[in-house]
Amino acid sequence: AKNPLRVLVTGAAGQIGYALVPMIARGIMLGPDQPVILHMLDIEPAAEALNGVKMELIDAAFPLLKGIVATTDVVEACKDVNIAVMVGGFPRKEGMERKDVMSKNVSIYKAQASALEKHAAPNCKVLVVANPANTNALILKEFAPSIPAKNITCLTRLDHNRAMGQISERLKVHVSDVKNVIIWGNHSSTQYPDVNHATVTTSKGEKPVREAVADDNWLNTEFITTVQQRGAAIIKARKLSSALSAASSACDHIRDWVLGTPKGTWVSMGVYSDGSYGIPEGLIYSFPVTCEKGEWSIVKGLKVDEFSRAKMDATAEELAEEKTLAYSCLN
Ligand code: NDP
Repeated sequence: AKNPLRVLVTGAAGQIGYALVPMIARGIMLGPDQPVILHMLDIEPAAEALNGVKMELIDAAFPLLKGIVATTDVVEACKDVNIAVMVGGFPRKEGMERKDVMSKNVSIYKAQASALEKHAAPNCKVLVVANPANTNALILKEFAPSIPAKNITCLTRLDHNRAMGQISERLKVHVSDVKNVIIWGNHSSTQYPDVNHATVTTSKGEKPVREAVADDNWLNTEFITTVQQRGAAIIKARKLSSALSAASSACDHIRDWVLGTPKGTWVSMGVYSDGSYGIPEGLIYSFPVTCEKGEWSIVKGLKVDEFSRAKMDATAEELAEEKTLAYSCLN
């Protein structure tokens, strides 16, 4: 039998955390033969709720769940973890300036970076979900210099899955027949969902999505804004932000990273830019990646047209601004 892996979830008493921990305990993140020990961190005001989540995990009697650490102590939470899913963050409240939210989160991520650096298992893989996800991940990277940059990522898989969902609805095909959409850039409304390399499997074989949809106007306007604004649409409908889909795509992200992407398929991940596609180094930017043996690599050589170029640059610019703002909060 495999040794258990320790998986940290921060903000574990929150609504994404509540959806995520049972998925991890069921083997959806790391596979049905991989035992796990869950490390759940939350802040003092959420300690009682966190204990309630722990009680429910015990009651669910998950065969793969070999232990539970539920704590408000960041050092205890980070001890020996192999995977860290960072969901905890300060929510943007009414009347708060962007800078105020940034300032709160940057200090949280700076502190957690130090704890992970000192106490996590070597080669720990980190996924940041809490917003501003790319910039929180960048701060985490900067303040955990001994963790390899390639181990620190942020979640854009939800956006990726949303883009596949919209294409599948439009074409009335199953979502598993759509592949190779791309989310470029920031997990924000400037993200660029790109279908120029996406394909759909039909009874007559694989076809470019652009050809199958045969409506460039829809693909260049409504499709993009629907994906960009999907989070807001969920809030409007549910009066709460998306949680089950965020949790599910966090599992997709880690599973594909650790176990690999299927041959011929790529996914979107926010990763430290190496300058690919002319995106400045020093940003955490969402790229198309394939994964093998626990390592991602950026898909190279895709053709980028003028329309895409402008959108990819605009979202990079927003990230550069966020980075400046984040640093100004730290000084
Ligand atoms: P959620 O569980 O709904 O969301 C958690 C974070 O994920 C938020 O920052 C949210 O950003 C972000 N997020 C990223 N992508 C998505 C998405 N697609 N849909 C929804 N959210 C997304 O928040 P809760 O308030 O329920 O839970 C947060 C938990 O974090 C609480 O338990 C709280 O106690 C804890 N917390 C921890 C802190 C710390 O570690 N120091 C500080 C503050 C809170 P957005 O706000 O933009 O929706």
